[in-house]
Amino acid sequence: MNFWGFSISEARVIDYDKNDKTLAQIMATEVPSSKLCIGCGGCTATCSAGNLTEFNIRKLQMLAKRGENKELQTQLHKCMLCGKCLLVCPRGVDTRRMIWSMLRFINS
Ligand code: SF4
Ligand code: SF4
Repeated sequence: MNFWGFSISEARVIDYDKNDKTLAQIMATEVPSSKLCIGCGGCTATCSAGNLTEFNIRKLQMLAKRGENKELQTQLHKCMLCGKCLLVCPRGVDTRRMIWSMLRFINS
């Protein structure tokens, strides 16, 4: 339906309970510091891959925790495992180890 040039968006329902949470559980076990993330975006701001591409490590963390693993498969290979994100994290999240866990999961 179109009102004065505007249309009402279709309702979008995301049922997280149906997503596969295996990776989120693996990350929580292998990298306990991943639970300390406050989503500040410091890792994304300093990321070498993010400066050159659309790669966004903060977003990928969030997707992994929600069990939305599809985008990880297309993005994760852009990480160079340089560890810069690790150095700036105010919460001491071992981001590089977290990425390593994600890579192992999607390649298994
Ligand atoms: S810098 Fe650390 S706390 Fe901030 S979003 Fe990245 S992982 Fe989370
Ligand atoms: S390790 Fe990966 S996510 Fe972290 S700064 Fe380097 S390229 Fe970015």
